[in-house]
Amino acid sequence: MVQVHILVVEDEPKMARLLHRGLTERGDIVEVAPTGETAVALAMTGEFDVVLLDVTLPGMDGFEVCRRLRAAKVWAPVLMLTARSAVEDRIRGLDAGADDYLPKPFSLAELLARIRALVRRGPVVRPTLVTIGDLTLDPATRRVWRGEREIALSSKEFTLLEMFMRRPDQVFTRDRLLAHVWDIAYESRSNVVDVYVRYLREKIDRPFGRRTLETVRGVGYRLRDSSR
Ligand code: CA
Repeated sequence: MVQVHILVVEDEPKMARLLHRGLTERGDIVEVAPTGETAVALAMTGEFDVVLLDVTLPGMDGFEVCRRLRAAKVWAPVLMLTARSAVEDRIRGLDAGADDYLPKPFSLAELLARIRALVRRGPVVRPTLVTIGDLTLDPATRRVWRGEREIALSSKEFTLLEMFMRRPDQVFTRDRLLAHVWDIAYESRSNVVDVYVRYLREKIDRPFGRRTLETVRGVGYRLRDSSR
């Protein structure tokens, strides 16, 4: 049997011991990190085949650990372990770059099966960066930069910007943006799109003296690709 190198990120000693015992019994090499900070430092070495990541950790949580690993181009498969089973948390985990998700309590047999599946598949390099001029967006880590400067966006702002950046110069109607970003058909008199476009401009354009996010009168909005 192939020996698998596993990083277990778990702050509860009892759970950590349980996982350590269950996995080493199978002949795998297991290292335990009790905090997110330790986990990131260890995983950066790139020597792990898979990372079991608890979401609820003191200090840096599992989502942030995952985001940092992907930002550092560590592509080892990440299996998130958590007591939370809400769909929103699952989506958050996947958005942060996790590969799979297992709600606690779980059976060791299921955990092992998931680990084997992830190891078989191997590391997956996430989609590359989306770039428009000097504006860069990373879909895996949900981070955005103008030049060297990172821009903090809310989740909705990010989704809206990603839509614009994936189709530069294309004009989007308010209805289309509403349906995609807010996932609901607001009444068309709602000005939520206009409000968020304003927020985005205040973050990606105005501080840099740009006007790339344009209003197309009577139609909607578009993101100008000035590099073309
Ligand atoms: Ca925990």
